[in-house]
Amino acid sequence: MRRIKQSQKLKNVRYDVRGPILVEAQRLEAMGHRILKLNIGNPAPFGFEAPAAIVADMVHHLPEAQGYSDSRGIFSARTAVAQYYQSRGLQDAHVDDIFIGNGVSELISMVLQAFVDDGNEILVPAPDYPLWTGAVSLSGGTPVHYLCDEENGWMPDLEDIESKITENTHGLVIINPNNPTGAVYSEETVKALVDIARRHDLVIFSDEIYEKILFGDAVHHHTAAYTDDDVLCLTFSGLSKAYRVCGYRAGWLMVSGPKHLAEDFLEGLTLVANMRMCANVPAQHAIQTALGGYQSIEEFIGPGGRFYEQSMLAHRMLNDIPGVSSVEPKGALYCFPKLDPEVYPIKDDQQFVIDLLRSKHILVTHGTGFNWPTPDHFRLVTLPDVTMLEEAIGRIAEFLAEIRAT
Ligand code: PLP
Repeated sequence: MRRIKQSQKLKNVRYDVRGPILVEAQRLEAMGHRILKLNIGNPAPFGFEAPAAIVADMVHHLPEAQGYSDSRGIFSARTAVAQYYQSRGLQDAHVDDIFIGNGVSELISMVLQAFVDDGNEILVPAPDYPLWTGAVSLSGGTPVHYLCDEENGWMPDLEDIESKITENTHGLVIINPNNPTGAVYSEETVKALVDIARRHDLVIFSDEIYEKILFGDAVHHHTAAYTDDDVLCLTFSGLSKAYRVCGYRAGWLMVSGPKHLAEDFLEGLTLVANMRMCANVPAQHAIQTALGGYQSIEEFIGPGGRFYEQSMLAHRMLNDIPGVSSVEPKGALYCFPKLDPEVYPIKDDQQFVIDLLRSKHILVTHGTGFNWPTPDHFRLVTLPDVTMLEEAIGRIAEFLAEIRAT
């Protein structure tokens, strides 16, 4: 038989969070090494449990959730999502505007398949959550990266966005709160982004999966609150992070703005949704319980809460390492520190991460894996408890000290 090759469509697609670095970590584990994996934002392995009511709901509905559901999602879940947005001030949110998916991941891919034509340019932040870049490429589009400004708390560089808009630009991706930087955008920034979309007739894709993981005085502003009826906005969120059930695969998408101008696109999106039948039905049932009930997130994000304390500890410890600077995260589950190139002249940051892994048995993800243009950052997941984080960052500090000594 001839050699079987991957499709050409995958030529420009990368997803380094689970790429060669994870393969190397698994190889080391198979040899008996204990690897501290700080590369994936998945709370469960770090001792975070889902709210009991959500688990009970899944179990309760298993017997009756054996069949396919409506491809856009079960009515109670879509209603719960619509009502959630209504309660957040988006009064026009309607059950028909909601699609439920197997996590936000599936919805990102579905939406881009339905929206992007070959050669269309979609503006994606750098750094980004790399599924966005990969899914734009896979759908035949061209991801065009706009910079976020580390000096300005990782806010999107509005001038850079404007300078990258061409007649082929069709969409603008916003990730707020941001993975990997931990930035939470001010109201002014969100309004300015919407204004760019309005002036250039762009559809906004607003990934808000970390909307409830906010620290200190950070406030999350839904992009859709500012788009009025003249900018089409797709808002993405789900249960994975705030409700700590990444494995259930429960996410949603809300369409808002001038839907009457988007009928054809929405018909296409429904077609794509139909083709994959539906999202995991037991997990869809859990959405109403999650959004409708009282599920305290405050115990994690306030002072003394694990998400908060661990993020601040990681941030402090990283900044204490010579030649390392980390912008304080205002939300989400990550730090994205910079390695001063004068102190650490790294040419290939994936190799840097692999060297760190082999030497200290810590797995982090290199910055270029998030489409950051220069090899001088890495992302650390702040989910491990304080003891494990201290150990992990201590070992990173040791490794960096060895580099400085050479
Ligand atoms: N969007 C962002 C910014 C993420 O960080 C992640 C997961 O890490 C996702 C989407 C995917 O989430 P889900 O588990 O809902 O597929």
